[in-house]
Amino acid sequence: MVTSANQVSKEKTSMKVSILDLKKQYQFIKSEVDKSVKNVIDNQNFILGEDVSAFEAETAAYCGTKYGVGLASGTDALILALKALGIGTGDEVITSPFTFFATAEAISIVGAKPIFVDIDPQTYNINPALIEKAITSKTKAVIPVHLYGQCADMDPILSIARKHKLKVIEDAAQAIGATYKGRKAGSMGDIGCLSFFPSKNLGAFGDAGMVVTNDKKVADRIRMLRVHGSAQRYIHSEIGMNSRLDNLQAAVLRVKLRYLDRWLEARRKNAAYYNEKLKDLPVVCPYVPEYNVHTYHLYVIRLKNRMEELSRYLNSSGIEARTYYPVPLHLQECYRNLGYRKGDLKESEKASEQTLSFAVYPELDKAEMNYIVEKIREFLRDNR
Ligand SMILES: *Cc1c(COP(=O)(O)O)cnc(C)c1O
Repeated sequence: MVTSANQVSKEKTSMKVSILDLKKQYQFIKSEVDKSVKNVIDNQNFILGEDVSAFEAETAAYCGTKYGVGLASGTDALILALKALGIGTGDEVITSPFTFFATAEAISIVGAKPIFVDIDPQTYNINPALIEKAITSKTKAVIPVHLYGQCADMDPILSIARKHKLKVIEDAAQAIGATYKGRKAGSMGDIGCLSFFPSKNLGAFGDAGMVVTNDKKVADRIRMLRVHGSAQRYIHSEIGMNSRLDNLQAAVLRVKLRYLDRWLEARRKNAAYYNEKLKDLPVVCPYVPEYNVHTYHLYVIRLKNRMEELSRYLNSSGIEARTYYPVPLHLQECYRNLGYRKGDLKESEKASEQTLSFAVYPELDKAEMNYIVEKIREFLRDNR
């Protein structure tokens, strides 16, 4: 007899559900990936080999852009995007304070100053209505972050940018494959930055990243910057860095890219399942505006009070649950010199206190999801 997932979860009083289990994904594609990796090893072609150029072309096509330039990480993608657009010392760049640190770090690394603009409390993405007030004569660019796997509201951002002659760099590290009004994440601004950090929706076996763009000049410049500012061997026209996408990583990623849409669909299905199961509870499920197709890099719920307690409760029940991100960037120690204070960007601060995420990865099974839902239900019942 086939036991339903529901029964299984009811029988089990405890389970372990980590936020991500990459071993399941690897088992599914093992033979193909192993073959591709072996091919690179057999050929001993590790730097800027065939898999890199093929993966660049395939990813650019997937994102709907003309060019892709493979880099060592998503952070480097942001740094080199800024450099390629000539942004540096004395410049200001507007971005969200509710993102992974690398977004702002890249701005600081090139010598520019991050200017934080608060988020929309429903989507957790930068609020376009607040951008114009933050623009000064020093503002050179905006970096909208497509947080958790869904795009920021790009049309107003792009029109503000056009009006004030600002560049737009999309931080699409969490959102490859997401669409906004049918357009792919990373293809709408001047440059899109992707990360293939192992836990991202398209993850390598180590660090890796890419910029995608329709601008040939920008692509060529980043291609040069990633090899020490050199277009011709031992001739250096500017100061660059060493930031190439490894051929081994590209070989892995080429295999995985072929499964990406299927995996994103599975994430959406899991998210829909949670939405359905949580709908009668006093938690706020992810909000997806009708113009967006979400890719659920993270499934994030919101609870006005006692989120920390819920987090502890889930973790002590074997469910890995985390807040992304617990300290908004304007309140980070290293940015004290920027002069922000608690209360300055209220929506980001609230979101950092009221949100929590747990497993939504494609290979998750119903029993695991039911277990998570049950524990949330239990907590809310016992703590009313
Ligand atoms: C992961 C991530 C990055 C950085 O990517 P790495 O490949 O880890 O360097 C940048 N921005 C956001 C929003 C991210 O989630």
